[in-house]
Amino acid sequence: MKKRVIIIGAGIAGLTAGIYALQSGFDVTIYESHTIPGGASTSWRRKGYLFEGGMHWLTGSSPKIPLHKLWREVGALDDSVNIYNRDPFLTFEDNRQRACLYRDLDKLRRHFLEISPDDRKEINRLCRDIKKFTKMSMPVLDIKGVKVKEKSALPLSMLLAMLPALPRMSFYTNQTTMEFTRRFKSPLLRGLLESVVGPENNASGMIFTIATLVSGDGGYPEGGSLGMANRMAKRFQTLGGTIQYGKEVSKVPVQNGVASGIIIDGEQIPADAVIITQDTRVAIDNLFDSPLREPWAEKMRESTKPMMITFICVGVEADLSDLPESLTFVSDQPLRCGDLAASIISINNYAGYKGYAPEGCTAITSGIMGDSYDFWKACKEKGTYETEKQNLAETFIHTLAKKLPQTAGKIAVWDVATPLTYERYLHSYKGSWMSIMKKGSKMESYPSKPESIKNVYFAGQRLVNPGGLPVAVETGRRAVQYLCRDTDLVFQDNI
Ligand SMILES: Cc1cc2nc3c(=O)[nH]c(=O)nc-3n(C[C@H](O)[C@H](O)[C@H](O)COP(=O)(O)OP(=O)(O)OC[C@H]3O[C@@H](n4cnc5c(N)ncnc54)[C@H](O)[C@@H]3O)c2cc1C
Repeated sequence: MKKRVIIIGAGIAGLTAGIYALQSGFDVTIYESHTIPGGASTSWRRKGYLFEGGMHWLTGSSPKIPLHKLWREVGALDDSVNIYNRDPFLTFEDNRQRACLYRDLDKLRRHFLEISPDDRKEINRLCRDIKKFTKMSMPVLDIKGVKVKEKSALPLSMLLAMLPALPRMSFYTNQTTMEFTRRFKSPLLRGLLESVVGPENNASGMIFTIATLVSGDGGYPEGGSLGMANRMAKRFQTLGGTIQYGKEVSKVPVQNGVASGIIIDGEQIPADAVIITQDTRVAIDNLFDSPLREPWAEKMRESTKPMMITFICVGVEADLSDLPESLTFVSDQPLRCGDLAASIISINNYAGYKGYAPEGCTAITSGIMGDSYDFWKACKEKGTYETEKQNLAETFIHTLAKKLPQTAGKIAVWDVATPLTYERYLHSYKGSWMSIMKKGSKMESYPSKPESIKNVYFAGQRLVNPGGLPVAVETGRRAVQYLCRDTDLVFQDNI
């Protein structure tokens, strides 16, 4: 008889774990509190507009990158899915001048030199580093001692190719992007580079992101976040797995150090193993009878720096396809929520994407990055939550009309999702969906299973910072490798 595995969450990590566990011979049920798969990888429709609420780019969309194999194995990508490689990836505009983040490194270098010949030395140095970082990519490895159908190892050639970037790592990690950009005289180049991952994150995120784009990776799969999640859910169900939607797991009961299943609405459902993909930062506090007190869990409590957004989206009754697809500009009227005041506004323009808006119209998304959780919580308690969301949307619409007059009076619909919205849907820490890499912070990696509880495994974005989709898929796979090792089964990456 097959061993019964329960997975908490049908996000990207949960679906990944489900697919590999089924292929490896387990009987798998996923319990998901929402009514659809995907978790943070989601999008939603309002009045005929589709708002992309998750990914802007996918590491591993290119077949040249090792992670690509995983996306194919879990059905996220296949031959029928077109990948769209936006180019320029970003456009920064100030005082009617534009700087673009092109994917071709020579073109990027020439463009930067045209903008600011005085920055030649720094531009050349940055481009040399980008080239070195294009060789860095997340390897796909097997855990020690697991039996596998097909071995995944780090080829020596890949390891050697990564070596030149290593000495430059600490240079970028030990400064914020804003500190790094001070080397450039041109405010336009500074603005563009700061808009890649934000000015406060350490500069390694910036160089990695640009290198990913330059290497031909970081595309947007057709159908976006929800399309990708639906394909994975379909693969899971085709393999014989069951997803129970609208089911929130309240506890994982543990007797004598062994997990025996899950509890939903007071009912206990037995299992031989439980894979938890709810944000690990929350799970260690809430899912067991008492908080998990292992050293790594204490470290996670202390060091988690949650990434949060107040997401704004509007449907515009105008065709904006002549504008850049990702435009960042400076506004003299900042968007505010609580202590956050954003005067650098980034918009994503989906005019070129079929099906994202009625004919001749455009879906636009934006957001204010940063910790506004307490502000929105206080608004909820005071009863001003809906009014504040409306105020923010109106300021955004006004800002947009000032920058793009063709949008004035043309807003058909708006929506705002706050960290409380994300918390309600994801049950994640302060509604976050990734972690921030501050200046000097190391890439933390947390264990896939606790030492003190048997039959429990963890997967998901929080296990390796900064998280995101690559970590979700990699940790989902890794959790199943531990499960296979513990149960003496062969891990099957395909059937
Ligand atoms: C605006 C935005 C932009 C982003 N852009 C990118 C990008 O460009 N590239 C990139 O790589 N990443 C991006 N991300 C991040 C990425 O989407 C997430 O890191 C990733 O989807 C996390 O997957 P996960 O499975 O680990 O967690 P989640 O998506 O949080 O999934 C967890 C699932 O578990 C369910 N759940 C939780 N608790 C319970 C419970 N107790 N019982 C039952 N079900 C439960 C939740 O409903 C959810 O479906 C973005 C995210 C956002 C929000």
